[in-house]
Amino acid sequence: PNTHEDELGDLAKSIETLARDLHYLTKQRNEFLASISHELRTPLTYIKGYADILRKQSLPKEDMENYLAIIVDEANRLTQLVKELFELAKLDQNQFAIAKEPVDLHPFFEKIEQRFLPILQESNIEFTVSCPSNLCVMADPLRLEQILFNLLDNAKKYSPNGGTIILKAWRQKNNIHILVEDHGKGIPEQDLPFIFNRFYRVDKARTRSLGGSGLGLAIVKELVHAHGADITVSSKVNAGTSFEIIF
Ligand code: ADP
Repeated sequence: PNTHEDELGDLAKSIETLARDLHYLTKQRNEFLASISHELRTPLTYIKGYADILRKQSLPKEDMENYLAIIVDEANRLTQLVKELFELAKLDQNQFAIAKEPVDLHPFFEKIEQRFLPILQESNIEFTVSCPSNLCVMADPLRLEQILFNLLDNAKKYSPNGGTIILKAWRQKNNIHILVEDHGKGIPEQDLPFIFNRFYRVDKARTRSLGGSGLGLAIVKELVHAHGADITVSSKVNAGTSFEIIF
């Protein structure tokens, strides 16, 4: 039988665990806020810097246009960042309406292929799409499109010109698997556990030039989980990366 001492001991342990969790959550929240302010500050610094130059100096037309283009790019980056942060905040509070319906993947993939092909052709990337007919998942079609678009966009961003990207679905036992695979630069093993974390980027300097916020995969993960599905990643440096969604 439990004595008072046992009960008190258990209680003390629970309080200790709670305190540790609270400390961890506070630390995470502070890190998240620090990342947000950093991500907001960088584009603002560019915008202010170039706007100041344009105001103070009379520049050749070509320079002026270049600087204005940078200002517009950075303003677009800010808009995208704020949009993604808002999306994550809604996902965090479960304020996201996921309207599930049966989605027939064959025609769905055809639509995605049509939309994505012109973007890939620009970089001379081959797009291989395959899906058996009559393969249905219960999903919100708009959200599923957003998930796949994010993964395909990354596949393109981190692939060399002339590579191949594969989108494929199949049934395995009671599950349906969707695969997005590229043969691009890959992700080092030590970074793999973190790539779904908010603001995590493997190569901060390089990805900035590619226009990423580091929030894309965090949103993908939340959206996949909101569907009651799961996502896994496997990758090899200089060989490629594949993301698998399991419904
Ligand atoms: P970003 O906006 O920087 O692309 P994501 O959250 O979408 O942010 O991805 C996080 C990081 O994971 C990226 O910065 C990149 O380093 C890595 N990554 C994601 N997808 C791929 C991929 N297909 N190939 C190689 N690296 C990838």
